[in-house]
Amino acid sequence: MKDLENICLSVEHDFEGKYQSVAPEIVQTSSFQFQNFAHYVQVNTAHEFAYTYTRGDNPTLEILEKKIAQLEGAECGRSFASGMGAISGTILSLVQKGDHIIIVNTVYGSSVKLIQQLQKFGVESTKIDVQDTKEIFTYIKPETKMIYFESPSSQRFEMLDLELIANVAKEKNIYTVIDNTWATPLLQNPLKHGIDVVIHSCSKYIGGHSDIVGGIVLCRQEIMQYIDDFAHILLGATMSPMNAWLAIRGLRTLPVRLKAQEKSVLEVIDFLKQDIRIERIFHPTCNGEKQQALANRYLKGYGSLLGVVLKDASPDVIERFVDALHHFTLAYSWGGFESLILPVFKGNNQAELKQRGLAMGQLRMYIGLEETEILIDDLKQALDYAYNKD
Ligand SMILES: *Cc1c(COP(=O)(O)O)cnc(C)c1O
Repeated sequence: MKDLENICLSVEHDFEGKYQSVAPEIVQTSSFQFQNFAHYVQVNTAHEFAYTYTRGDNPTLEILEKKIAQLEGAECGRSFASGMGAISGTILSLVQKGDHIIIVNTVYGSSVKLIQQLQKFGVESTKIDVQDTKEIFTYIKPETKMIYFESPSSQRFEMLDLELIANVAKEKNIYTVIDNTWATPLLQNPLKHGIDVVIHSCSKYIGGHSDIVGGIVLCRQEIMQYIDDFAHILLGATMSPMNAWLAIRGLRTLPVRLKAQEKSVLEVIDFLKQDIRIERIFHPTCNGEKQQALANRYLKGYGSLLGVVLKDASPDVIERFVDALHHFTLAYSWGGFESLILPVFKGNNQAELKQRGLAMGQLRMYIGLEETEILIDDLKQALDYAYNKD
């Protein structure tokens, strides 16, 4: 962990610019000059590297890419305009008509929708729910080209056995792609366990201040080649230099933020565990012994995004609880400084929840950087209000 923290803080990647500035330069330009016609020809015919256009390469983006690649132990990284840009870019670059994708457990909703939409291009998919990693392999077909998953997963925060997935997939020439946003590059490094591609939304913990949207893909050069040739240049979901700069700034404090938030989330979980109005908690530390064993094996620490289920929750109880909270903001996204709450029930989606196996009273909770005591007091008073009907 120490080495990784140093990579976040180190400025060794950061000042190839003119001024030896401690903060990296934001190279906010769309285009770069060629030295002369001979240089222009050289770059185009001999494929000599030069910065030419920001949709291709930009020095500020490169700093971010190098830093996160080093954190993940990747040969290379490519930044994108959003997490979904990184996800769609990766998938569209690696599959083609006739291929089949397996989606495991409660993956981020938009990723599932994207993969299912690919049917119109002749890419089939199967969305599965498994208790045990080895069940995944019973869904492999001759056409299966990719296993797409999160570990811990969105909503239920279930862990999978990364090495088992990597080993079986390698034998069958199947790409393994993990969305590692929950764990950040500090708490879990799937490439080191044999997974082919790691994706992060930089909009969450990496940015860390709820002020950017961005994404990044990490993998070995042999795979990045496909992403570079197709998605990166042609789909055009390029991160802006300003957002890359903010993501680099976010990385500086990621180690201390994660430590503070891990301590806080474990204390909040201790409180929630002893409150009878909480029916269930979803977090790698609360999902049973087998899940805890996987967490011990793969995670170097805990993220502060979790799920809770309110007991006997009616829409009325959910509304009273959410509206009574003073220190948890009702908002999408997570990973910033501020604590958040988000019910899975949106007013009219009971059928969808049933189909996804989610309880009406389930909420996603994100523990931010506020004092833990303030957050626990806030949860306590909101639970009292929600369940006290007079
Ligand atoms: C937010 C999120 C994404 C999508 O990232 P954007 O930057 O919003 O496009 C993907 N996966 C997970 C787990 C996320 O939380």
